[in-house]
Amino acid sequence: MTSLPDVPLGGLYGHLILDHYRNPRNREPVPNADIEAEEFNPFCGDRIALQLGLDSQGRVAQACSRSEGCSIIQASASMMADLAFGKSLGELEDLAELFRAMMRGERSSDGIAEELGDLKALEVVRAYPVRIKCALLPWVALEEGIARFRKQSE
Ligand code: ZN
Repeated sequence: MTSLPDVPLGGLYGHLILDHYRNPRNREPVPNADIEAEEFNPFCGDRIALQLGLDSQGRVAQACSRSEGCSIIQASASMMADLAFGKSLGELEDLAELFRAMMRGERSSDGIAEELGDLKALEVVRAYPVRIKCALLPWVALEEGIARFRKQSE
């Protein structure tokens, strides 16, 4: 399937990535989800299906993210669902922006580590440019799902 470079997953942060990869959170389907999105990256076979359920305040009350593919997308998808709970859609978009800025090297995780939570572990992926897309794909799905939801609710 892939000849992409492996990201070495040693050290504290590597273990965090491996933990999410081996024990992905939030894979239970959300019935009647408000937001649904899927993304596929044929380049390395990564796939993500995302579902979010909102409460009456418009905050995420249920989240399901199911991914297939490499360790990086699976870890990123699991971390994303963990972080989504209790957030408004605007807050999630802000988080996606921060994460993308870190992955593109426009910002270091210093100073935004608290907002990023476990996602800061993925900063190591920055050294492997072709793998950055793996880390961002769940967030692309998230932003598309939110955009479609907003359009439908207009
Ligand atoms: Zn991948």
